[in-house]
Amino acid sequence: MELYSGHINKLIEELAGLPGIGNKSAQRLAFHLINMPQSRVDRLARTIVEAKANVRYCQECFTLTDKEICPVCANANRDHGVIMVVENARDLAAYEKIGKYTGVYHVLHGAISPMLGIGPGDIRLKELMKRLEGEITEVIIATNSSLEGETTAMYISKLIKPTGIKVTRIASGVPVGGDLEYIDEVTLLRALEGRVEL
Ligand code: ZN
Repeated sequence: MELYSGHINKLIEELAGLPGIGNKSAQRLAFHLINMPQSRVDRLARTIVEAKANVRYCQECFTLTDKEICPVCANANRDHGVIMVVENARDLAAYEKIGKYTGVYHVLHGAISPMLGIGPGDIRLKELMKRLEGEITEVIIATNSSLEGETTAMYISKLIKPTGIKVTRIASGVPVGGDLEYIDEVTLLRALEGRVEL
């Protein structure tokens, strides 16, 4: 026997498929949504659809943005010769929050993970190498200190070394396995300032 109506079950199933949402949270959210005023439900649904339709990748750094080129890449006051390589747009946001980094970024959208079958071709590495054909003075590798992040850092540094461009890695002090977005700003700034040449 089905405990709830088919529609509720479907909603719970969809919500439970989101990251960080377990079955219990999904049930709670589903009932919350059903009890919300129609206007708010409409607004939420519309916001999701519109965000999906309008958000795109920056043509230079591949972060998520509403425009062709994101605000960081479009800013002439930033040092376009220094590229910080991060795993995702959340990491970029974490560094932007400190407000001390003046270069630009490159968002990989993932990290190399042989275990999960994610290879160099599955992240935005080709696009990074293409950018290095320009006038670049330093590439700062700021991937996470997880196994995947370290593997990716090693791979990228080996790839860039022959070009003669300076390659640095943010300092440890970022806890191992620590997701960059959860690390406080002081630690993040220290990691950036204490970066070492690879
Ligand atoms: Zn950009």
